Amino acid sequence: MKEIAVIGAGTMGNGIAHVFAMKGYKVALIDIAESALEKAMATIEKNLDRMVRKERITEGDKLTTLAGITTYTDMKQGVAGRDLIIEAATENIDLKLKIFKNLDELAAPNAILATNTSSISITKIAAATQRPDKVIGMHFFNPVPVMKLVEVINGYATDPQVTAEIMDMSKGLGKVPVEVKDYPGFAANRILMPMLNEAFYTLYEGVSGVQEIDTVMKLGMGHPMGPLQLADFVGLDVCLAILEVLHKGFGNPKYAACPLLVNMVTAGKLGRKSGEGFYDYSAKGKDLVVAQQFA
Ligand code: NAD
Repeated sequence: MKEIAVIGAGTMGNGIAHVFAMKGYKVALIDIAESALEKAMATIEKNLDRMVRKERITEGDKLTTLAGITTYTDMKQGVAGRDLIIEAATENIDLKLKIFKNLDELAAPNAILATNTSSISITKIAAATQRPDKVIGMHFFNPVPVMKLVEVINGYATDPQVTAEIMDMSKGLGKVPVEVKDYPGFAANRILMPMLNEAFYTLYEGVSGVQEIDTVMKLGMGHPMGPLQLADFVGLDVCLAILEVLHKGFGNPKYAACPLLVNMVTAGKLGRKSGEGFYDYSAKGKDLVVAQQFA
């Protein structure tokens, strides 16, 4: 299996294309927006340049990697003859169901269809196709070239042989795959999001301040980033959406999102991407600045 396609050339798609091309796969990178493809190739080149500067790869490796990636705006052309297609398009259930229905018609009958979704049911996505046994979750973490984990998620009907292939392939990429079943939040977000939510509550109830809460988890628990900084990095809207999936999926009030998070998202304070969340990113300095509201 050496020819793959990646659908969606955003934050995750460019990283996924990067790691596969580095290992000699021929990669078709597909997006509806030509501008997204241009930006993705520029990001991949910039990240490879950094690896050359750190002497982790040669200039020749960089050029071979870039030459291994071909971009397409036409999904039919991009997926033709590929053995594995990894969908990393925008996190929207209707969009993903539509993409998988199309993929089922366009991809080779034996091709494996994987999704990088953070929170949507693999079983539901698989049910949009006539090949649910060949649909699987392949959940990479951001930034993909750096983070070692791949959560491999088995849908209700995923063929164990398909799981074995994806586990082996992930190891071949230098990643550490972990197999999980398809239940809300899978394993990573089911554990992470309630922890972040508890940090929001700790701030909301005035138990402690932004920097203090992050310091507790960094110095007391050895976390590289405090939970509030991590939530800003992930995006507060993304945290809220995943908590809602957990809350709805399990029907358990323990997953209900903290009202402070809901308010912040409603006010457009989405974390780093919007310039402000628990911290203020407008100054772009080296040190983190606590947002005015919490200072
Ligand atoms: P993003 O918004 O950066 O990129 C999504 C890309 O998909 C955009 O370039 C968009 O043009 C493209 N797209 C939209 N519709 C398309 C279509 N029909 N065909 C082809 N391309 C299409 O999003 P992202 O952060 O890269 O997230 C992608 C997926 O990865 C989501 O399912 C998300 O939940 C998941 N994920 C994200 C992260 C993260 O930290 N960002 C981590 C793990 C998983």
